[in-house]
Amino acid sequence: MADDGRHGLAGLAVSLFTVEGDALVVGGVPVSQLAETYDTPLFVYDAAGLRRGYRALVEAVLGLAEVFYSIKANPNPAIVRVFVEEGAGLEIASAAEYEVARGAGARSDRILFAGPGKRADELRHVVDHGIGEIHIESFGEIEHLAAIGCALSATIPVAIRINPSAAAQGGAMRMGGKPSPFGFDEEEIDSVLAAIAAQPRLDLRGIHLFAGTQILDAEVLASQWGYGLQLAGRVARRLGRPLATIDLGGGLGIPYFAGETALDLGRLRERVGDLIALVRDEPLIRDARIMIEPGRFLAGPAGIYVARVLAVKASRGTRFLVTDGGMHHHLAASGNLGQVIKRDYPIVAATGLSRPIQRATLVGPLCTPLDTLARQAELPDLRPGELVAILQSGAYGLTASPVGFLSHPTPAELIVDGGEASLIRRRGTFAAPIALP
Ligand SMILES: *Cc1c(COP(=O)(O)O)cnc(C)c1O
Repeated sequence: MADDGRHGLAGLAVSLFTVEGDALVVGGVPVSQLAETYDTPLFVYDAAGLRRGYRALVEAVLGLAEVFYSIKANPNPAIVRVFVEEGAGLEIASAAEYEVARGAGARSDRILFAGPGKRADELRHVVDHGIGEIHIESFGEIEHLAAIGCALSATIPVAIRINPSAAAQGGAMRMGGKPSPFGFDEEEIDSVLAAIAAQPRLDLRGIHLFAGTQILDAEVLASQWGYGLQLAGRVARRLGRPLATIDLGGGLGIPYFAGETALDLGRLRERVGDLIALVRDEPLIRDARIMIEPGRFLAGPAGIYVARVLAVKASRGTRFLVTDGGMHHHLAASGNLGQVIKRDYPIVAATGLSRPIQRATLVGPLCTPLDTLARQAELPDLRPGELVAILQSGAYGLTASPVGFLSHPTPAELIVDGGEASLIRRRGTFAAPIALP
């Protein structure tokens, strides 16, 4: 399919997937064939695409940081396993994600546990079964963990999550300075260090920073990382000893909307060179293991959400395509997952791609105007029974959506690898209620 600028989004489909004749193809399998076999709606992930993204990022940060995958972006065990097999560590935010991590074959010391509200039973569970590091986010958590360490006679590896101070604003970089439920304010670090030092069961290994998500500018990302490394140096000097770990967080963006461009990994690579030099110059962080923990960047581009057109209709001059997929499976694509301005995710037809364009507004089956997936999208003249695919849907899709709303079935998930599709989540119902006698 020609990308003549008018069809910029279709161009994105070609760079991530392929188009053969009239049809969108993922990992060598036509989407129409997947829909035939597994019905719709569907999330489809391309294993080769997941690996490609991971390897490109590893290459870009080589010599500076190790890549951990943040499970909450897409917790399907088959996805997590692809990254573990590639050598990624994992970042988790619940005991259930810990089980997914271990089930995917991750070593316990390759797992980081963050989150503003960890339950005592979750903390005990991960300490008992082994954990790389727990990222402490409140004074209460210091007390809880110390008690768990005593009860289990365990020394617990911890890091402190820090919200950068307002001083971290500058140039292209915007981070910190605002109230946050996550971690400790940079201004109170001295008392945090004292509280942890008073607990012999806690082994303070390093710091963790994570200021923002969906960063598309390599300069902004690199300056945040640079700030994190300098902050690590300051913390180490206050401690009077080297840090073992520095976690620079996730937040690497992917392009969703018209006018956005992908994070420039070549540019990032150049800035990583400067950061490596910065680390070498600071004896107290020179030997630290530095980590990044992206989710969206690793899982997002390799996934699509496939829905079938149920009805085509017109209302006062607007052509509507009503599909069986919607915000109940893919809240982010409907613009209702924290987006300030509603803009459309990249969307393409998965069938009938060569037909003339006929603008259409794409809506899901839910009885609410919130369930809109695309406004006046340039799609071919699709008919009932044909398919659309929302791109960039591998992260914050299914598990970030209100699947119980209106009681439609939950979607199936597939992974395509080596030209074969495997079902990795069955179509189902939202946890069935319990009928009273
Ligand atoms: C959500 C989260 C991430 C991943 O964020 P992305 O924007 O998907 O890269 C990383 N670390 C922590 C602590 C998180 O909560």
